[in-house]
Amino acid sequence: ITVAAVRETSAGERRVAITPEIARKLRGKGLGVLLERGLGEAAGFPDAAYGDVEWGDAGSVLARADALLAVQPSAAHAAQLRAGAALIGQLRPYGAGERVAQYAARGLSAFALELLPRTTRAQAMDVLSSQAAVAGYRAMLIAAEAAPKFFPMLTTAAGTIRPARVLVIGAGVAGLQAIATARRLGAQVEGYDVRPETREQVESLGAKFLDLGVSAAGSGGYARELTAAERAAQQQALADHLKNVDVIVTTAAVPGRPAPKIISAAMLAGMKAGAVVVDLAAEGGGNCEGTRPGERVRIGGVEVLGPLNLPAGAPLSASEMYARNLANFLELLVKDGALAPDFADELVAKTCLAHGGEVRFRA
Ligand code: NAD
Repeated sequence: ITVAAVRETSAGERRVAITPEIARKLRGKGLGVLLERGLGEAAGFPDAAYGDVEWGDAGSVLARADALLAVQPSAAHAAQLRAGAALIGQLRPYGAGERVAQYAARGLSAFALELLPRTTRAQAMDVLSSQAAVAGYRAMLIAAEAAPKFFPMLTTAAGTIRPARVLVIGAGVAGLQAIATARRLGAQVEGYDVRPETREQVESLGAKFLDLGVSAAGSGGYARELTAAERAAQQQALADHLKNVDVIVTTAAVPGRPAPKIISAAMLAGMKAGAVVVDLAAEGGGNCEGTRPGERVRIGGVEVLGPLNLPAGAPLSASEMYARNLANFLELLVKDGALAPDFADELVAKTCLAHGGEVRFRA
C-alpha cells in the first residue's frame, strides 16, 4: 500500500504526520511513501531529509493514498480520498456525527487516535499523551515568559529574589510535564488533581500535592465530572490558596465534556496583581472564567492566557513523537502489505469511526 501525508492546512499547524525517520521505517517495511512537496518544512524537516520517497502535489497525493496519516485532517482532504482508503489521525470524534457520517458515506476507514484506550499496549500509539507532554512543557514556558518575576530563587549582590510560587491544576500528562518544567526552572511548585493517585506522581517530581479534599476518579484512568457540591467545596478551598500564588497553569479535562470551570472571576479578583494564569484547556472552553481562546486578557490584576494548539509551537519534537505514534498504530492495520484492520483488536475497534460504509462510533 501507499502511505501518504499532505501539508496540514489548519491555522498555525506546523506539525507533520510523517517525519524522515518514519518515512525510512515505512519504506523498510516495504510500504510506498507518497508526500506532498514541502510537507515537513514548517516542522524543520526539508524535503531532502526524506530520502527515497515519492512526491506530488496535494491533489495527486490524496487521490493515490491508501492510508493518509494526518495531524488534523481537513474535511476537504478527506473528501479527496478514494473509497476504501484509511484516514488516521486526530479526527476530533466528539460531537462530529455529521463528519463521521460523511467518512462512512465515502467508504473511508477512519481512525481517531484520541479514542485509544489508555492501556499499556496502546502507550506507543498514544497521541494524546505525546502531544499533551509537549503542551504542558510549552504552557509552563509561556507562563514563565509572561510572569513579571523570576521562577528560581536568586541570591545576588542586589539581595535575594524569592522563587515564584507555581500551581498546576490537573496533574495528567500535560500537568505533570508542566510541573517538571517549572521545577527545572527553579520555581516552588504545587500540583492539584481530583484523582487521588496523582499525589504520588506530583510528589515524585519534587512538587507539593495540594489536597482540597475532593476525590473524583472516573473510569479508564480519567476523572469524572464533579457534582455541584464537590465543585463548591473545591472552589472554597482553592480560593484561599490562590491568594499567594504567582503563576497558575490549568490543564483539567474530562473526555468528551466541556472543560471544568475551576477558577472563578471572584478567585481571580483575590489573586496578587501581576499573577499569571495559562489556561491549557482554552480550546475546550477553559478552566478559568474569562479565558479567551487564543488570547491574552487582563482580568483585574491578573494576566489570563488561553494559548491554542501548544504542541504546534514545538513542531519538531512534537512531530517526532506524533509520527512514531501513528506508525505504530498503522502496524495494527497492515497485514502482508495490505490494509486489513482486525476488529477483534480493541485498539482497532475502539478508534474506528467508520469502515466499509458504516458508522462505528457515536459520541
Ligand atoms: P486529561 O487530559 O483527560 O485531564 C487532565 C487532568 O485533569 C487529569 O489528570 C484529570 O484527573 C484532571 N481533572 C479533571 N477534572 C478536574 C477537576 N475538576 N479538578 C482538577 N483536576 C481535574 O487527562 P490525561 O492527561 O489524558 O490523563 C488521564 C489519565 O490517563 C491519567 O491517569 C494518566 O496517567 C492516564 N494515562 C494512561 C496511559 C496509558 O496507560 N497508556 C497513557 C496516558 C495517560
